[in-house]
Amino acid sequence: MQTNLKTDIDVQAICDGFVYNELEGKGLHGLSGKLTIQPEYQRNFIYAADGGKREMAVIDSVLKGYPLGLIYFNTVEKDKFEVLDGQQRITSLGRFVSDKFAIQDTDGHQQYFSGMAADKRALIMNTKLLVYECQGSESEIKEWFKTINIAGVPLNEQELLNAVYSGPFVTLAKEAFSNSQNAHIHKWSSYVKGAAIRQDFLACALDWVSKGDVSSYMSSHRYDNNIKELSTYFTTVIQWVESVFTDTETEMRGIEWGRLYEQHHKKPYDAKAVSAKLQELYGDAYVKNRKGVFEYILGGSVDTQLLEIRVFDDAIKKAVYATQTQKANAKHKSNCPLCALGHDANKSKVWSPAEMDADHVAAWSKGGQTNIKNCQMLCKTHNRAKGNR
Ligand SMILES: [Zn+2]
Repeated sequence: MQTNLKTDIDVQAICDGFVYNELEGKGLHGLSGKLTIQPEYQRNFIYAADGGKREMAVIDSVLKGYPLGLIYFNTVEKDKFEVLDGQQRITSLGRFVSDKFAIQDTDGHQQYFSGMAADKRALIMNTKLLVYECQGSESEIKEWFKTINIAGVPLNEQELLNAVYSGPFVTLAKEAFSNSQNAHIHKWSSYVKGAAIRQDFLACALDWVSKGDVSSYMSSHRYDNNIKELSTYFTTVIQWVESVFTDTETEMRGIEWGRLYEQHHKKPYDAKAVSAKLQELYGDAYVKNRKGVFEYILGGSVDTQLLEIRVFDDAIKKAVYATQTQKANAKHKSNCPLCALGHDANKSKVWSPAEMDADHVAAWSKGGQTNIKNCQMLCKTHNRAKGNR
């Protein structure tokens, strides 16, 4: 099975010699006759079925510079291809550039391709498609479809985006963030997970600066001749992290620093106090989620849910339940100590183990430990009322 990624086929080339069968509703040929768009066994064109919304959406995407996704060709023989996946998109493009349907412009007017401004037409025609040419047996192709890959390594999202939005911006961004020879990468790897060569650093920098909207960011900066904003924002976040947390812990890798920066960078922090708190929490055997320690500290050491404090195990719960229930039975009171204090019908109710939860008598945040001495069983209502501490 051989695969070959083509990034230089544009709409004009694909639609060259486009033939559309009105009777059967199929796109038949393209790429100057070298491409069979819909082999007999493929399903018919259905994009036009919903009032043409989907085929209009294809054109809209092209005009906005959004990716159309991967297209797959099966190489039948030299210079003869069949479309394995992408018939609908190619047929939409072919039908549009041959004036088979119109799109609506911003004023709600119908607009056919031939009536569009020259620059818009050129934009459509020059849009490059991402095409995989595959060659192999049917079963090989099917297997390959399951794990879309290049030479055995799955193409990740950022690699795809780089191909889709190729241009001066991506070139400069890759020089800065995808080159493992870059002296900064080593330092950055304390905070960013992954490999520069697999675009993980670039993906992270873009995620931070775009607040998660990477696609639109890349689309709108595609033809920029500098990456100033991207670089500056990324370094600013990293420097902020370094100034707040002077320790370097392995759990710092891959944290959403961009989000934490946005939420907390305006607050003052005492690096020495932060470090002391960090070491205290790292030394606390009850803290299960060390990754959560950073956000916990940044938020003022309040939200203990971030730390996933260790809970009581079943043996402790069973033992405490047995003792409590035995004592309660002797006094004809409820085995939930808080119910027993009350005056309603529950004051003598004996709850089953399934109706109760374990509670820290002294809260973890006040130094309470997760051991049998500090465990009490409460009915679910009272345990919930006591809150998550
Ligand atoms: Zn209770």
